[in-house]
Amino acid sequence: VLSVRGLRKSFGSNEVLSGIDLDVRRGRVVAIIGPSGSGKTTVLRSLNSLEVPDAGTVTLSDGRTIDFGATVGKRDLTALRDRSSMVFQHFNLFPHLTVLQNVVEGPVRVQKRDPREARAEAETLLARVGLAEKADAYPSELSGGQQQRVGIVRALALRPELLLFDEPTSALDPELVGDVLTVVKELADDGWTMIVVTHELEFARRVADELVFMADGAVVERGAPADVLSRPREARTQQFLRRVL
Ligand code: ATP
Repeated sequence: VLSVRGLRKSFGSNEVLSGIDLDVRRGRVVAIIGPSGSGKTTVLRSLNSLEVPDAGTVTLSDGRTIDFGATVGKRDLTALRDRSSMVFQHFNLFPHLTVLQNVVEGPVRVQKRDPREARAEAETLLARVGLAEKADAYPSELSGGQQQRVGIVRALALRPELLLFDEPTSALDPELVGDVLTVVKELADDGWTMIVVTHELEFARRVADELVFMADGAVVERGAPADVLSRPREARTQQFLRRVL
């Protein structure tokens, strides 16, 4: 679905990504873990055209390659953004729109889909995550876990090729984390292609096909989750896991 080579990004003199390679195959789940500030969020934001990398390439499923080292046009950034949708750490729902309006906004306004069809699909998706009766509520009337499930439905409603999860549970109270992780796991089991940045290592072990450990803007180690978590080869990975496990 996506092939990333040599992705680099600096903010001023701060090099945040120093050459990231990443391959995501259809139906696969890649989990990214690593210390705070290692650049995990910046990778996702780059894949969603929320940041523009300084160098590197991204090859899309249709074979088109975007070279950030060259001049990148708006059409390239749009093509990249349209592949994926992002689920944010802080939900990022529109506070003045109802749950249903939040979900249909993208499909109707951006994708120009038929509003009736988009609404029907949104209702089906909301029911699937147990929020059918909240369609007319406002985000402020929902718990954090419910808001994040709306965030997930909003991403699904865009029918992306790739779902990007940016620490989807780190803003939630502990008792609300499980419901959201269950939804993410179900989507993975349904065959959605996704990249999940997470601090939940046990969850990463259960859901991911590949686990990527990042530190200081680079991929330090990658492999089957059980291998990386139980038998890390690199000292940097061992040190991180000792601290967080
Ligand atoms: P966390 O787990 O804390 O979210 P992360 O691994 O996702 O961390 P990033 O959010 O990608 O890391 O940030 C990496 C570095 O880039 C940090 O040092 C951060 O301060 C810096 N950074 C991120 N976005 C910007 C920006 N828009 N302008 C300047 N610096 C930024």
